[in-house]
Amino acid sequence: MYDACTEAELDPAAQLYPELSKEDQLGKLKDLLRRVAVCSPFYRKKFREAGVDPESIEKLEDIKNLPFTTKEELRDAYPLGLQAVPDSEVVRIHSSSGTTGKPVIIPYTKGDVDTWARMMMRCYMLAGLTNLDRIQITPGYGLWTAGIGFQLGAERLGAMAIPTGPGNTEKQLQMLTDLKSTVLASTSSYALLLSEEIEKRGLKAQVHLRVGIVGSERWSEKMRKRIERELGIETYDIYGLTEIYGPGIALDCACHEGMHYWSDYLLFEIIDPITGEPLPEGTLGELVITTLTKEGAPLIRYRTRDLTRIIPGPCKCGCPFPRLDRILGRTDDRIKYKAVNIYPGQIEDIIQKVPGVSSEYQVLLSRKAGRDTLTFRVEIEAAQDPEKKAKTETALKKAFKDFIGVTVDVVGVKIGALPRSTKKTKRVIDEREL
Ligand code: ZN
Repeated sequence: MYDACTEAELDPAAQLYPELSKEDQLGKLKDLLRRVAVCSPFYRKKFREAGVDPESIEKLEDIKNLPFTTKEELRDAYPLGLQAVPDSEVVRIHSSSGTTGKPVIIPYTKGDVDTWARMMMRCYMLAGLTNLDRIQITPGYGLWTAGIGFQLGAERLGAMAIPTGPGNTEKQLQMLTDLKSTVLASTSSYALLLSEEIEKRGLKAQVHLRVGIVGSERWSEKMRKRIERELGIETYDIYGLTEIYGPGIALDCACHEGMHYWSDYLLFEIIDPITGEPLPEGTLGELVITTLTKEGAPLIRYRTRDLTRIIPGPCKCGCPFPRLDRILGRTDDRIKYKAVNIYPGQIEDIIQKVPGVSSEYQVLLSRKAGRDTLTFRVEIEAAQDPEKKAKTETALKKAFKDFIGVTVDVVGVKIGALPRSTKKTKRVIDEREL
């Protein structure tokens, strides 16, 4: 399933501190365009229809002349319309879960699996792991990419993978204590669940975890602190998506000021989700990814629908790979209010800044006499004390004005007053269209 790597490859210095250059990226981009022009019926047709000549790309910025690739197109290519190599070179497929309609099938070559393993190994190295670590892998195995990606990287690093997969808390706790797992790979909600179980059963002294690699859902700083405190670990955010290999294309470093992404394999752009125009570094927008070296199903300017920004300047940790900010939400989650786009991640940032505010909120949009209003209902600690309540509400109102630039009505309610859901909580109620 994997090739052992050479000593040089196992050297974190070689993996995490290489010489990076724009020329290297441009060369790989040109190779990619040449390859798809010959081998990918999907892109041949796409470029022909868009009337673009891939040979006309002379510098990295020219990429903006190429058309985007969307999730819908990937679905329409079901089952193997994205494949850009002969069948003999495909060693496996993965598939995105897709809650509605057809799934997206991504074929991988041996080279793709190797690249993915290396990216994942770098993530572990960035989190300070070595071949002495024991990595308990709780994400799912199967058609989707989660568990198997964590596994690949662990094996490539030479660490001990403990492939428990999801669920079965009893077994998880048994492995954690008996095998002395040092690393937990998990979603944030599962890490929280395990930490609560450990606390309840008084197992903390028998748990040897030191690092958590946490991904696949957005989580607040409050939740992160809680998980870190209760499990006694340092956590690292991991990013990835099935269409682009899987987990492991970016990870935050010990400075925790953004996730380093592997720019020798992937080209990231940030665009305005509405106009499609490229945005300058540092600006919030939609992440678009081009896979520079992928063979089985290369993607050019794939719109992830994830909202984030590229953080300008070098990281204090010294790692030269560029950084992506945490994912602030999905383009589909956009709240349009008085010509301003508001994203849930921005609201969560505001909650974070104001003391005495819980993580539970609701946004109510309504229209009275042709005028739009936004009411922000949020659980606050001092809801019973009129004076403190007013103070918190004023602070929130000011934060909305300062950080998003909109005026809103704030209503503080007591903790537990807003509805809870086991699934995704509906936080935005838009009555403007009713
Ligand atoms: Zn860093």
